[in-house]
Amino acid sequence: MGDASDVDAAVTSAKIGFSTWRALKPGVRGKLLSQIADALRANRELLAQLEGAEAGKPAPQSLREIEAAAMYFDFYAGLANIPSGEVIDLGEGMHGYTRNEPFGVIGVVTPWNAPLNQAARAVAPAILAGNTVVVKPSEFTSATTLELARIATEVGLPDGVLNVVTGTGVGAGQPLIEHRDIRKVAFTGSLRAGREIGRVAADRVLPLTLELGGKSANIVFADANLRDAAAGAVRAFTANAGQICSAGTRLLVANEVHDEFVRLLLEQVGSVEPGVSYGQMTTGDQYAKVQSYFDVAREDGATLAAGGAVTGSGWLVEPTVYTDVTNDMRIAREEVFGPVLAVLRFSSEEEAIAIANDSEFGLAAGVWTGDVSRAHRVAAQLEAGQVYVNDWLTGLVEGPFGGVKNSGYGREKGMEALHHYTQTKFVAVKL
Ligand code: NAD
Repeated sequence: MGDASDVDAAVTSAKIGFSTWRALKPGVRGKLLSQIADALRANRELLAQLEGAEAGKPAPQSLREIEAAAMYFDFYAGLANIPSGEVIDLGEGMHGYTRNEPFGVIGVVTPWNAPLNQAARAVAPAILAGNTVVVKPSEFTSATTLELARIATEVGLPDGVLNVVTGTGVGAGQPLIEHRDIRKVAFTGSLRAGREIGRVAADRVLPLTLELGGKSANIVFADANLRDAAAGAVRAFTANAGQICSAGTRLLVANEVHDEFVRLLLEQVGSVEPGVSYGQMTTGDQYAKVQSYFDVAREDGATLAAGGAVTGSGWLVEPTVYTDVTNDMRIAREEVFGPVLAVLRFSSEEEAIAIANDSEFGLAAGVWTGDVSRAHRVAAQLEAGQVYVNDWLTGLVEGPFGGVKNSGYGREKGMEALHHYTQTKFVAVKL
C-alpha cells in the first residue's frame, strides 16, 4: 500500500539514476537487457508460481507469459545498436541532424491480466532508450513486477533504473502521474482510469501512451478454411479466460456459412476445459462482472449456445457463446473481459466492415478468408490498431501494438515502441 511519499522516493531514485544510465553506450544497456531476459528464464518456475497464486493462471499460461516477458528484453537488447537519428540536408555550409533522446523518468501503470508481461513490455524499450522507470503494478498482482526489479538488480542493472511502487490507483498511481519529475506515462488498463489519467496529464502537458479496452471483431468470410477459423476464433475469446484486452469477442460470420460455422465452433468450444485450458477470473469483482453479462445477454434477446454459467469451484467461468446477436446489443458493444463470445451475421463484405467498425473501441481485428486480395482490402478498412489474417495474436513482441478510438493511442511493442520512449531533437550547425 505505497503512498505519495513512496512514489516520491522512487521518482527521486529514478531521477538520480537517469544521468548515468543515459550516458552509457547503448550496447552496454543492451547487454544488461539480455542478462535480464536470461535471468527471467532462470527464475521461470518461481515467477509462474507467483503469477498462478495472484492471477489464478494455470502454469502453462504463466510460463508462456514469462517467456514473452523475456522475449521483450531479448528483442530490445537486439535493437541497442541500430542507427538512430538522421542527417537533414540544409545546403552547403550547414549540417543538420536529429537525435532520439530519452525523456527522463517514465511512469508505467499496469493492470492485473498479464502482470509481468505488461511490465516487461514497457520497461524493456523504455530503459533501452536510456530512460529510467517507476512501475506501479496492479494492487491485485504486484509480486512478479517486484521480482522483475529484484532479478534485474541481481544481474547488475544500476540503482535507480527500475523502481517499483505497489499500491492502489488512487494511493500510488495518481501521485505517480502527478509527480513533477515524471516526463512521460505509459498506462495499460481500463477506459475509466485512462480518462482520469488523461485529465491529469492534460494539466501537466505530459505525453501519454494509453492502452485501453477492446471489443475486437473477428470476421469469418465464406471462403475461409472454416475448421482453422473455428479453432482460431475459440482461441481468440478463451485465451487467459478472455482477460485479454485484444480478445476476439465479436465474431462476424458470413450468412451462407453461419450454421455450419457455428456447429464447428461449438465442437471446438466443447474441448475447452476451464481450469486447464485457462484459469480463473483474477478478481472477485471481475468474476461478478462476467456473470452480470449473462443477464445482460438474456435481456438483450441473444440465444445462449454454450456455457452461460460458472463451474462452481474457484472463480472459473465456462466458455460462453451467444448467437443471434445484433450489433446494438450490449453484449456486442461492451467489454466483458471474460470467456464470452457474441456471434453476429453479415451478408456482404461492406456490411462486415461496417459492423466491425461500428464500435467505440478499435484495438484488434481478425479476417479469415482464402482470398488474398480481400484480406488486404478488408485489413486496410478496419478501424483497429492491428489486424490478424487467418490467425489471432501473432507477432506478440515484434509487431507494434495499440488502439484507435477508445482503445487508446500510442504504440507499445516492436520498433515502434522505441519512438514512443524517445523524443526527437533537431540540431542545426553553421559550419
Ligand atoms: P484499471 O484501469 O482499474 O487499473 C489499471 C491500473 O491503473 C492499476 O494499476 C490501477 O491501480 C491503476 N489506476 C486505476 N485508477 C488510476 C488512476 N486514477 N490514476 C493512476 N492509476 C490508476 O484496469 P484493470 O481492471 O486493472 O484492468 C482491466 C482493463 O485493462 C480492461 O479494461 C482491459 O481492456 C484493459 N487492458 C488493456 C490492455 C491493452 O494493452 N490495451 C491490456 C490489458 C488490459
